Amino acid sequence: MPEGAPSEDVPIAVNLSSNDYLGLSRHPALKRAAVKAITQFGVGSGAGRPAAQSVELHERLEERLAAFKRVPAALTLQSGFAAVMTAIASTCEPQDLVISDEMNHPSTADGVRLAGSEHWTYTHCDVDRLEHLLSRARGNGRRYGHIVVATDAVFGTDGEIAPLVKICDLAERYGATVMVDEAHALGVLGEGGRGAVDQYGLASRVHIQVGTLSKAIGALGGYIAGDRSLREGLLLNSKQVRYSTLQSPPVVAACIAAIDLLEREPARVTRLQKIATSFRERLRRFGFDTGASETAITPIYLGVADRALLFSSRLRAHGVLAAPIMPPSVPVGTARLRTIVSSEHTEQQLDLALGAIESVGRELGVI
Ligand SMILES: *Cc1c(COP(=O)(O)O)cnc(C)c1O
Repeated sequence: MPEGAPSEDVPIAVNLSSNDYLGLSRHPALKRAAVKAITQFGVGSGAGRPAAQSVELHERLEERLAAFKRVPAALTLQSGFAAVMTAIASTCEPQDLVISDEMNHPSTADGVRLAGSEHWTYTHCDVDRLEHLLSRARGNGRRYGHIVVATDAVFGTDGEIAPLVKICDLAERYGATVMVDEAHALGVLGEGGRGAVDQYGLASRVHIQVGTLSKAIGALGGYIAGDRSLREGLLLNSKQVRYSTLQSPPVVAACIAAIDLLEREPARVTRLQKIATSFRERLRRFGFDTGASETAITPIYLGVADRALLFSSRLRAHGVLAAPIMPPSVPVGTARLRTIVSSEHTEQQLDLALGAIESVGRELGVI
């Protein structure tokens, strides 16, 4: 294709930029559940709790989610972003301190701002640095109320898993609370997709789990999961929970259908994990720098932003969609192309994508 030609002319053959890890957003069971809920309740829930007519449907999703996550209770919100902000804003006070990984999703920082707490960040996945900050916080002349360590379970730009066991060890040593955002881990890691906290057996050591229903679950929404007292406290005290309309009923019904599927067909998650490992290994064999990815997200490091942009647009001309990740999302000089695989990608699609990536990589002198 000539330089500058509109790549939109080429149909998308392989989408490597969707978070719909298990292809559930288009699954017939989710569509059927959503249509049924629309027929019964309409498209909107019309009110917050407890007034909404569909409240039992919402509570059923929360029970199913809690059981799936193997925690006592869960509360759903309209988005993952809202869930993270609400979890922090509703459990932290101005006298508290939140210490988070510098690469956490932006919702963490917004939640801390809303809570009015102090906010420190540590170098990405650096547990020595985290320990240094915890020890400084404990030794500080100022006495903090609570100290919360907040980390994403899987980081959205590079697909690495946070050092969760060490984070829990440190938090216990310094009397801190742990909050883990499972947005890119639910449906991807752990037994049958139960997440990273489950994979490492940390359910009783992570006080607050948050996540999204908008990625692997295939619909839209977020959740906060943990002890029953956490859920009850949110219902009583959280402005975001009390003064906001409940999720739309079809979306909630679709989420329940997604959990049914995950429980019934765990092979979907195994297939995703297998595809992700093989895709990443093949990229590495071509000679690409794929960072520390361990999940379905694999970056290709490209250096300057222009190169990432060009790589992405050249791939698009081959019918392959993959997003460039550039500053300010990542440090200058570390621009990358982000690839995300799905359990529903066929062998042919993966071969096509890898062939195109190899060819563009050679064309641009990356490999
Ligand atoms: C995607 C994401 C969110 C936001 O979830 P939405 O449902 O899209 O609002 C929050 N945290 C992390 C780590 C995410 O990756």
